[in-house]
Amino acid sequence: MADARTKTIAIIAGDGVGKEVVAQGVRVLERLSELRGWSLKLVSLDLGADRFLRDGATFPAEDQRFVRESCDAVLLGAIGDPRVPSLDYARDILFGLRFGLDLYCNVRPVQCLDDRLMPIVGKRASDCDMVVFRENTEGVYVGVGGNFKKGTPDEVAITEDLNTRKGVERVIRAAFEFAVAHGRKRVTMSDKHNAMPHAHGLWKRCFDEVKGDYPGVEAKHMFVDALCMQMVRAPETLDVIVTNNLFGDIVTDLGAALQGGLGMAGSANVNPGRVSLFEPVHGSAPDIAGKDLANPLATVLTIGMLLSHLGFEGEEAKLIEVVREAVRTGHCTRDVGGELGTRAVGDWVVSQLR
Ligand code: ATP
Repeated sequence: MADARTKTIAIIAGDGVGKEVVAQGVRVLERLSELRGWSLKLVSLDLGADRFLRDGATFPAEDQRFVRESCDAVLLGAIGDPRVPSLDYARDILFGLRFGLDLYCNVRPVQCLDDRLMPIVGKRASDCDMVVFRENTEGVYVGVGGNFKKGTPDEVAITEDLNTRKGVERVIRAAFEFAVAHGRKRVTMSDKHNAMPHAHGLWKRCFDEVKGDYPGVEAKHMFVDALCMQMVRAPETLDVIVTNNLFGDIVTDLGAALQGGLGMAGSANVNPGRVSLFEPVHGSAPDIAGKDLANPLATVLTIGMLLSHLGFEGEEAKLIEVVREAVRTGHCTRDVGGELGTRAVGDWVVSQLR
């Protein structure tokens, strides 16, 4: 990174609503850059279903090299298109980024920004402010396993839960480091080591070891079933959560429901201190794609995380406030109770940047 203010960001709008929300995200980045005098280089990469259908390319080696060697961050919209039933092209792009950059932390803030969005009766928006660290490179999602006697009545199906000491320890440590850096009081590690003593026993042992290095942060353990109940019954007791790939996938969708739905959930795929990837949690949403209906606020929140990662202090908090105000004043899309389209929400957000 040549200068603290010169950053290169690869933009992969991708498919479906990804194109629409990223277009608004780019406007936010450009406007902030103009207001603050930053030198941001935004480089669009033509990846996704259109490109694949045009020339068969998924994630060409030169693009992979560019991202790895010349970028500071990647902003991604969504990948997925009903015209391409095979998920191979999506896997090439998403796994190419995730494993190519070794993005081992999927960080998902679960913060409810307005009482109107809080689905739990008797709870306020301020009761829900947690951050989930989901392990992003291991677990049951690595595809280890197989089928025996497939399609017969005697079929055997096995999916292995792959956990390494290095993988488990580094994501737990990242959660504690985040807690320290952001003044968060508690880290809750969630597993199921009572039922899965081998794989999740490793999580428990690593957690018990690592927590000793962070005496200022309260360390708590919860089985994932209890965690789900706690998220709904007493979200105010949860702060930073760290868990494996599968459980993280599930609890963050529950989390998205607590913050107003997928249109309000941002995320980062991080290797701390290295090139990382930022994307709204939602997918390409083919049902609403191209209709100016997609909520771009998840992308605005995601850009806040991207700017924090790049070291632009204070910008994320300001963007969160703009999003909070968008919802409070009804400058938002239908999924969160407004009447505006994607572009109009983008216009309003850009108009609020100071
Ligand atoms: P994936 O498999 O990529 O997660 P999915 O189809 O399961 O995709 P999404 O594409 O995220 O999930 O869409 C789920 C639902 O949420 C859809 O009905 C979609 O319309 C809605 N949705 C997703 N993103 C948004 C958004 N930004 N604004 C409004 N609604 C959205």
